[in-house]
Amino acid sequence: MESIRRDAPVQDELTKICQWILNYRNHVDNFPVLSQAIPGQIMELLPNAAPKKGEDIDDLIEDLDRIILPGITHWQHPKFMGYFPANGSLASLYGELIAAGLGVQGMNWNTSPAATELELKVMDWLRKFWGLPDDFTGVIQDSASAATTVAMLAARERATGGRTNTFGYEGQKLIAYCSEEAHSSVEKAARILGIGANNLRKVPVDKYQAMNSEELMNAVVKDREKGFQPFFVTACFGTTATCGIDPFETISDIAKRFGMWMHVDAAYAGASLCLPEIRQLASGISEADSIVINPHKWLLTHFDCTAFFTRHPSAIKDSLTLTPEYLKTDEDEQGLNLRDWGLGLGRRFRALKIWAVLRLYGTDALSAMISNQITWANKFAAEIKAHPHFELLTEPRFNLVCFRYNPSSGYDKNQLNDLNRNLIKRLNLSGKAFLTHTVIDGSYAIRMVIGQTNVQWKDVAEVWDLIQSMAIQQLS
Ligand SMILES: *Cc1c(COP(=O)(O)O)cnc(C)c1O
Repeated sequence: MESIRRDAPVQDELTKICQWILNYRNHVDNFPVLSQAIPGQIMELLPNAAPKKGEDIDDLIEDLDRIILPGITHWQHPKFMGYFPANGSLASLYGELIAAGLGVQGMNWNTSPAATELELKVMDWLRKFWGLPDDFTGVIQDSASAATTVAMLAARERATGGRTNTFGYEGQKLIAYCSEEAHSSVEKAARILGIGANNLRKVPVDKYQAMNSEELMNAVVKDREKGFQPFFVTACFGTTATCGIDPFETISDIAKRFGMWMHVDAAYAGASLCLPEIRQLASGISEADSIVINPHKWLLTHFDCTAFFTRHPSAIKDSLTLTPEYLKTDEDEQGLNLRDWGLGLGRRFRALKIWAVLRLYGTDALSAMISNQITWANKFAAEIKAHPHFELLTEPRFNLVCFRYNPSSGYDKNQLNDLNRNLIKRLNLSGKAFLTHTVIDGSYAIRMVIGQTNVQWKDVAEVWDLIQSMAIQQLS
């Protein structure tokens, strides 16, 4: 039998891989932003079984160029302006590389004390960076979705005196609330935890896409009259479609009055809490029982890195701790085993990448980046406003602008929707930029997110020119 190679040209191989990455990152803007592949194209180029004999690194690298790159949508392209970004800066890349190099699994404190302690420390740095209260403890979760599930679980156990974990549901009807603009992960959590999608009330929003707190109040009162048990409310700082902001102060008052856990989903926009002017938009956020912010969206850190903070660490741990014999350690009493915080047992050493980002860039540069992007979004929105044939569908929020083409001459709503749908489609097929859409009050809106790691005003201006010329072409 052949053995695994682990000696000879390793340095050479690592150098070649790093060289390839460097080359890619330096030329990423030469690629079409959206992959031009058709379904099945990549699979067709791949062999049907793994090779029996190990191959050469050069062959692997060749296939990266030949097979993989054509199937890549380039999230690190400065003109990637769709969804929300998944920023993977170079500093973060170094952190990922080091984590992979160490190859540790930090489920228990003693399985790598540095993994646990660095994580707790950098989460505290982030807490301060975002101006969150002193009594929040933070850990890294793999996604905002998982963090929301964990928060809802802890709330469920708090509401049932820890009984549901043991006995299952005992006839009580637990009710959760969010706005109709909340992220689908809230409903997913309700499904996973057996709350049931129908027991998640989706409260209507006002014209700013913010939860209508009067409607929340009415729903809670009605549910209690029926003998149901309201236990959890998600309030959003930056909804996914339009970056709407829920009214935390009133929601928190209602939550406290009826004993509900208030979870704040700030997955995207939370990164901008480093700016004092943004904190003003978030008054009452510090009343949250838990809050989730994704550095893997808007803080230059590779997916996956979700910052999850709570002021009830023991509620989280009590609902998730399970210590079979083989996981027992001498340090269990100190409560430093981060496996007790999440759905999985194993944990990657994710703190390294956010540590590298914070150290190599510094918080001043990170704040400046976010502030610049918000300025550019406002500047772009002003140009839309001034243009006779384009219009804003919401005021710009953070670095997101929702707008549409409306060439004024008597188009009805459906025709306008088709016009804008086609416009985005053609833009994305051109490979020159990538934008996505949302629907606001039945109107198809183009979403421009100015949040890519390397985006500059010049990129915004070029995409804006492109949109205008394609829109005119489309009519002629
Ligand atoms: C992106 C997003 C999520 C989901 O984030 P994951 O980390 O991918 O689970 C949740 N809520 C909001 C508001 C988001 O923008």
